[in-house]
Amino acid sequence: MSRAFIEFDEVTKRYGALTVLDKVDLTVDRHEVVTLIGASGSGKSTLLRCVNGLEDIQDGRILLDGDVVSGEGVDLVGLRRRVGIVFQSFNLFPHMTVLRNCTLTPIRAGVASRAEAEANARTMLERVGLKDKADAYPHQLSGGQQQRVAIARAMLMRPRALLLDEITSALDPELVIEVLNLVRELATDGITMMMTTHEMPFAREISSKVCFLHQGTILEQGPPEQIFEAPSAPELRSFLRKIH
Ligand code: ADP
Ligand code: MG
Repeated sequence: MSRAFIEFDEVTKRYGALTVLDKVDLTVDRHEVVTLIGASGSGKSTLLRCVNGLEDIQDGRILLDGDVVSGEGVDLVGLRRRVGIVFQSFNLFPHMTVLRNCTLTPIRAGVASRAEAEANARTMLERVGLKDKADAYPHQLSGGQQQRVAIARAMLMRPRALLLDEITSALDPELVIEVLNLVRELATDGITMMMTTHEMPFAREISSKVCFLHQGTILEQGPPEQIFEAPSAPELRSFLRKIH
């Protein structure tokens, strides 16, 4: 059996005349953590959003665990159950408690009864260090706490893979670490992850593979040591110089 869990096969994504992903080939193996790096506008978010069908593609195929999940007739609800996503902006429901934020989707999707969903949510909240915040509202939490709720909420759907799009970018520096610690823990537990981040030391530590996007193509990919210590593409070298 193939170890590949997420596969991009010559994926092209356009917005009108603008080609944002240009024949992208990419394989994410089971339990791998793959990080996308690249300048703003290089296509990182778009690539992630294609994985769980938030964007359609114009050419090529995306496979999840061997199933084609791009194109017509895809079960998007089922796909999004298998692949969770967390955004920079948390996207919690402001008028609902933390607990309700965590139970809404599992209950609606029929994944759990209300009692089960609440029990699962409390266990997950304890795991992310927010046991005593179940009845709080999002605005009563710090950004780091809100982001941990968003991650807990995604995990409660028991996804097979998790997409993290710059989830620490909106956080004050002192709150970044608590979110990264949680991501590190999830990675250790073996969930397959794709992420984008500006936290290069973290990317280097946690990733099995780093992909450098440049103008919609993966210009260079490899283990973090190679990408950060022995980059070969001039564009990647220049990118790394700029961020250091
Ligand atoms: P990154 O996450 O690397 O900053 P994005 O994936 O957000 O890059 O964007 C890649 C390119 O696609 C950019 O040129 C951006 O302006 C364009 N783009 C993103 N979303 C849309 C959209 N909904 N409509 C039109 N163009 C878009
Ligand atoms: Mg982005």
